[in-house]
This record gives sequence, C-alpha cells and structure tokens, in this order.
Amino acid sequence: EGSLKVPQEGKFIKLKEDKSIEVPNFPIIPFIEGDGIGAEIMPAMIHIVNTAVEKAYGGSRNIFWVELLAGDKAEEKTGKRMPEETIEFLKEAVVGIKGPLGTPVGKGGKSLNAILRQSMDFYSAIRPVYWLGQPAPIPNPERVNVAVFRENSDDVYMSIEYMPKEERTQKVRKFFIEEMGVSEYALPEDCGITVKPMSEFKTKRHVRKALRWALQNNKKVVAVVGKGNIMKATEGAFMNWAFEVAKEPEFEGKVITEGEPKDGQVLMVKVITDQMLMQLVLKPEAYHVIITQNLNGDYISDLASALVGGPGFVPSGNIGDGYALFESTHGTAYDIAGKGIANPLSLTLSGAMMLEYLGWKEASELIYSAVKRTIAERLGTPDIANGFRKQGLEAKELTTLEFAKAIADRI
Ligand code: NAD
Repeated sequence: EGSLKVPQEGKFIKLKEDKSIEVPNFPIIPFIEGDGIGAEIMPAMIHIVNTAVEKAYGGSRNIFWVELLAGDKAEEKTGKRMPEETIEFLKEAVVGIKGPLGTPVGKGGKSLNAILRQSMDFYSAIRPVYWLGQPAPIPNPERVNVAVFRENSDDVYMSIEYMPKEERTQKVRKFFIEEMGVSEYALPEDCGITVKPMSEFKTKRHVRKALRWALQNNKKVVAVVGKGNIMKATEGAFMNWAFEVAKEPEFEGKVITEGEPKDGQVLMVKVITDQMLMQLVLKPEAYHVIITQNLNGDYISDLASALVGGPGFVPSGNIGDGYALFESTHGTAYDIAGKGIANPLSLTLSGAMMLEYLGWKEASELIYSAVKRTIAERLGTPDIANGFRKQGLEAKELTTLEFAKAIADRI
C-alpha cells in the first residue's frame, strides 16, 4: 500500500522489549523535508551526515533515507497535511528526522508538530546547547554547554482552556467559588482560566531519561528547575518527584543530592526558574543538564540558545520510549525560503545528535569538528557572515549548499 519506496538493502531499527534500540548497519531512516527552507536545509544535512558516516565507517555502515510527506508538500500531493502513512512509517522506523513544519494561521486544526508529538508520545524534548565558534552575544560563549530536558506531555500545553466570559468558564468559576472556597478576588467574573496538569508518571519517566543521559555523557551538575515555591501542586510536585527518582535503585550511588560528584556521579540540585534564567546569563558553566517542565523548558531553551547565537545553531530531539524524532529548532523562515541562504546548522547538528542516538559517535564527532573548523575560517551563510562582520571581522558569505559542501570537505 502507498507510494513509499522502502530501500531493499536497508533494515528497520528494532525497538527492544526494554525500550532500547537495536541499530542495523544499514538502517532505514525516514525524513520529513519540512516547509519553507526545509527543501534547502534537508539536502544539506543529508550530504553532511552521509559524508561523515562514509568517512567514519568506510561503507560498512550506511543510512538508507526515505522521504515521508507532511506539511505543504503532503497537502499538495495527498490533500492531507499529515498523512496516516507518515505516522505509521515513523513508528515502524523508530528513529527519524524532520525540518520545520508551518502552521497555517486561521485554518484551524492542530499543529503538525503537536500531532507528531502526541501520536508518538515523544515525552522529552532535548536541546543540547553548546558553542561551535559562531558569533554570539556574550563574552566567552564556550562557557555554555548545557542540555535542556523539557517535559513534553504535561503542563499548560494540554490546551485545557476556559476563555474569559464564556459560559463554560463561569461554570468552572462557580465550582471553585461555591464548592472549593476560592475567593471572587482570585477568580473575578471576567477572568480566563488555563489548567496546568502535572503528573507523577509523566514527570518520572522524563527525569529518568535525563538522568540516564547525564550519566552516559559524564555530566556533573543536573539542575531540576521550576517555580515550586508558587505552584506547589505542579512544579513543586515535579521537583519532589525528580528527587524521588534520584533515590531509585537504578541511580543509587550515581545521583547524589549533596557534596562533590566523583567520577561517574552527577549532583542533582534544585533551582528556581527565575534564578536559573539569571544564572544562565551570569554563570552558564555552573549547570550541565537542566530538567524542567514544558512551559519553563520553552523559555529556558530559547534563552540558552540565544547565548550561543540563536536557535539557528542549536539541535533538538523529541524522544519517547525508544522512539525519536530529531529536528531543527527554528521555524520555516518563509521570508528567506527559496533564496538558498538558509543556515543549515540546526538541522545538521540535529543529524549529528541522531547519529549519537544510534550509537554512531565516531561519525557525529566528525561533524562537530568539521563545523567548528568551517566556522573558524569564518565561512557561512549570510546570517553567520553578518554576525562576524558586526564584530568587525571579515567573513565569507556562502549559500546553503556551498556551506554544506565546505563542512563536508572538512570531514
Ligand atoms: P522562523 O524561525 O521561521 O523565523 C524567524 C526569523 O528567523 C526569520 O527572519 C527567519 O528568516 C529567520 N530564520 C529562521 N531559521 C533560519 C535559518 N535556518 N537560517 C537563516 N535564518 C533563519 O519563525 P516564525 O516566523 O515565527 O515561524 C514561521 C513558521 O514556522 C510558523 O508557521 C511556525 O508555526 C513554524 N514553526 C515551526 C517549528 C517546527 O516545525 N518545529 C518551530 C517554530 C516555528
């Protein structure tokens, strides 16, 4: 059924009983090109990743890419923005990568990213933020090396909303005032209400994922961030559950909550959100992993990204129980689409992050060092070149494909 061509030589990644993955030497990896600049940055990423894999493994490993339709391209060809076939294939393939998908304004319907997130239960969004030499707004941006783990299946994003003045809102208000003893001052007649659920199960699975990652990657300080002092039932509970996870047998002796972490240990600390936002700017080197909720994660990951030059330089991964979908952090950039000048780094680094997830570290390391070398020579798309010029440095402007080739040449 369907128009998808599955490469004969390729094999699907296997999701094992314990939710870890078994990666064949020739895995089938689906990609969703994405809208806007997706058509430009996706081939750039694929070229760089293929070059790195070839160089690292000399043909003994190779990715078989399969394009899946979503967004504008899918609508054109199938009339649907998110064909079922795309979701089914992503599930079968376990690991994939995507470009940005536009959300048409005023057309209604859920965002495609939300559909993907919910149908695949990608409950953790991971954004590792580090600096590779690009123009950045702070002195010594090399001090920033922090991975933000944002919980992605709880919190105000569940769209439990009661708009001001609606009748259903009055019903909810009345319940709180008449049955729960809440004052009219707290819930005035013209207020809107957003419900913020946060649960033990969803919090703990997210925290476990972050702690395992921190231990695997030899991180030292893990901060659990939230405004638990104000929202005790949600963010406060989240922070307490995180410390309960630290006491689970799996983490015994590995996750400590006081003292100096030794080799093979991480220190878990509690930090209030506003304090963390300030610390990230003043003392970014103090934290290596941030474990937080959905809304705080949104703010924190954007601030952290800005410190190293903006979301155009930062990758991300949406991860569930084994299932993973990597993606660029910026949007469709319709304003520059088709001009061949989009910066492919966010998607490229997401590709490198995917290689790490597959356990192909040799290939991802080649990408990081090639990107560093290319930027150190001050070669880049206009956004990068302009950034250098603003600092009074000379730089050479390249198109998206020229930049991708320059990186691949340095692998
Ligand atoms: P945007 O990231 O698309 O653009 C913001 C600005 O940054 C624009 O000036 C753009 O030209 C620039 N920019 C973004 N990426 C760039 C790149 N790689 N290289 C050079 N310049 C780049 O954000 P927006 O305009 O708010 O959103 C446009 C559309 O993208 C919306 O429909 C939104 O829903 C969607 N979006 C999707 C995702 C996603 O799929 N994960 C994320 C954010 C926004």
